[in-house]
Amino acid sequence: MSRDTDLLVIGAGSGGVRCARIAASHGARVAVAEGRHWGGTCVNLGCVPKKLLVQASEYGDYVADSHGFGWNTQRGDFDWQKLIAAKDKEISRLNGIYTSMLDKSGVRLLTGHARFEDAHTILVEPTELDPEAKPVRITADRIVIATGGQPVRPDIEGAELGITSDEVFHLPVMPQRIAIIGGGYIGVEFAGLFAGLGAKVDLVYRQTLPLRGFDEELRTALHKGLDLRSVTQHEECSPVSISRTADGLKIRLDNGQDLIADQVMFATGRVPKTAALGLENTRVRTTGQGRIIVGHDSETDEPGIFAIGDVTNRLNLTPVAIAEGHILADRLFANRAREWDFDATPKAVFFTPPLASAGLTEEEAAKDRIVDIYTTEFRPMRHVLSGRERRTFMKLVVDQASEKVLGAHMYGEDAPEIIQGLSIAIAAGLRKADFDRTIGVHPTSAEEFVTMRTRTRISGK
Ligand code: NDP
Repeated sequence: MSRDTDLLVIGAGSGGVRCARIAASHGARVAVAEGRHWGGTCVNLGCVPKKLLVQASEYGDYVADSHGFGWNTQRGDFDWQKLIAAKDKEISRLNGIYTSMLDKSGVRLLTGHARFEDAHTILVEPTELDPEAKPVRITADRIVIATGGQPVRPDIEGAELGITSDEVFHLPVMPQRIAIIGGGYIGVEFAGLFAGLGAKVDLVYRQTLPLRGFDEELRTALHKGLDLRSVTQHEECSPVSISRTADGLKIRLDNGQDLIADQVMFATGRVPKTAALGLENTRVRTTGQGRIIVGHDSETDEPGIFAIGDVTNRLNLTPVAIAEGHILADRLFANRAREWDFDATPKAVFFTPPLASAGLTEEEAAKDRIVDIYTTEFRPMRHVLSGRERRTFMKLVVDQASEKVLGAHMYGEDAPEIIQGLSIAIAAGLRKADFDRTIGVHPTSAEEFVTMRTRTRISGK
């Protein structure tokens, strides 16, 4: 049967756009439906605006640090509205790039909310993005669901008084006091940036350390870093209620403590966005939280329907969604099979200073093998003169039997840039001896990764 298009992608985020563009470059007829914003979460309400805000928050430090270098710089006022306007201008430039890139690739753009009528038929209906758009019914041989996720709020009294990362980028005024709930990526990043912008920050999380899943030593270094950035940490607790008082929002914690803030931000995870897709009209299966169940090849239980990115809740990172979209398009339309190595996926958390990791943590690696651990901790050169109390921590996890470097971890300035390079060595399975015979760049922090000679300890069984 002849259908309107070879491929319909639902969702124009990082993964969907890459899948559509690559499929079109292989000669497929492609359409993309998007109901909210071209570029998805990463561009509009995630990585990109977040990093701009983090960068904005670091200028105060630069002013203070410059004094140790002989400058007499004075710190001026910070204008939140000006920053948000500049950020919005950049985001709308990127939105334009996304649509024109798809357009130039010959992809048909459908603005509106897509819903399955059956396994090959989609109805695209107008949304606030373009209320004047006419509904479009389109049939496709293959459909890729790339609708991403959305933030969740805990089920507590007064949760509606809080905001999430969806609202934080458009606050009319910067909160002077903010309580952030959740010690994951978003919680840590926003705690750091609001503290840098001068807010009083309370960070509430239920573990003993922030960033569950990261290397324990890195988490410990970050815990100290949060203290140094004047973020007040409330470990091992959760909010039970939020109420409005004359003094501000009152957050009651389950340890009996009350916090007062101008804003409460929930950074308590995200869930896949699948509720209104009409999946009941297909054989696509989801879990309780709406995660689409897929095989290694990203295909769902309904042949011809695929899912990529956060909607599958595998590894919720933009570059992973992009890789999944690219690999899928290559496989479907160029008969090209590619594999990727999730174990070596680098991760970064843009706190100030940032932290980054590639490969296995010590805890993961030591579960079923003996590992040699190499660590170093030092004050970076800049802060010898700036006088700032900021240290850098680096770590290599090495398999004792094969001598392969299984993991690299860093907390300190430029960590994401450095770890991106090291992730190639880890994905390639290089050994500690390969690191040792590599010449460093001097004077840098990065050179420490190729000059760590003395083992700190042995770990594992
Ligand atoms: P995370 O899963 O990273 O962290 C969620 C945090 O909220 C954890 O500390 C978790 O605690 C806590 N939490 C969950 N439910 C509750 C609850 N009911 N009460 C109290 N605390 C709770 O999610 P984020 O929201 O920070 O980020 C969402 C996703 O976005 C992440 O998966 C990440 O992949 C992605 N992201 C990536 C970034 C990057 O690459 N730099 C930046 C920002 C986001 P516990 O650990 O105890 O479960």
